[in-house]
Amino acid sequence: MLLNGKVAIVTGGTRGIGFEIVRKYLVNGAKVVLFGSRQETVDKALEKLKEENPQWEVSGMWPELTDALKVGEAVREVKDKYGKIDILVNNAGISQSTPLYDYTTEEFDKIISLNVCALFYAILPAAKIMKEQGGGCIINTSSMVSFTGQSSGVGYPVSKFAVNGMTVSLARELGKDQIRVNAVAPGVTRTDMVAALPRQTVDAISAKIPMGRPGEPEEVADAFLYLASDMARYVTGEILSVDGACRV
Ligand code: NAD
Repeated sequence: MLLNGKVAIVTGGTRGIGFEIVRKYLVNGAKVVLFGSRQETVDKALEKLKEENPQWEVSGMWPELTDALKVGEAVREVKDKYGKIDILVNNAGISQSTPLYDYTTEEFDKIISLNVCALFYAILPAAKIMKEQGGGCIINTSSMVSFTGQSSGVGYPVSKFAVNGMTVSLARELGKDQIRVNAVAPGVTRTDMVAALPRQTVDAISAKIPMGRPGEPEEVADAFLYLASDMARYVTGEILSVDGACRV
């Protein structure tokens, strides 16, 4: 098992890509604490996982991710419970497709707050713990739009360009502390986030995917497994695309 004995935090772990990351980490021997937005969705996800395997060591919390104090408390609670944090996955995120002239500044602030600031709020306490214990691994969820931009909903690509910037910069800063920092950039992946987009948008993008279909959450989760494992022990500062070569 690739993650035997490792302790992981996965934000946005209640559904979609995050849920599959949690599953994959548990299957590979990790102990996982998933961070969700509400107790009900966290409980539902935990129930599903325990049904699959009652032996899995998994629990959940729902700190407000855009509140630095609450996130710091939650991260330190995980350390107190397990004595360490080996892996932090910053996966929670929202998307936007609002045309510029319809945007409100509140809407723009909201996406930056969750997709960018919340990552920093989790990384700060986690990196301090990882440094103290002699190393660790941080994986952020980016997007294919972090390379291409998108034609509507500018807040989303802006947030994901920032995720890439945070990833490569922190990889350079934290390498000396044996903390690896990488990101996974999924393409169109079949989750609720994509289901919420207009049908024509999804069809138009899917038609341009060289592999001819959207990705599955578990296919994206495999990249998170690789990056968290010792197979990637010398990989840091990497933005790993999992998108069927889609660059639209
Ligand atoms: P999803 O909507 O299915 O899941 C999003 C997760 O984030 C959920 O677990 C949700 O509870 C959590 N979340 C949302 N707002 C939150 C908040 N305020 N506080 C705490 N948790 C919150 O979406 P997904 O497709 O699984 O997306 C996961 C990540 O993948 C996101 O960062 C997204 O930007 C990225 N991504 C998705 C796609 C895609 O096509 N699905 C493509 C590229 C990147």
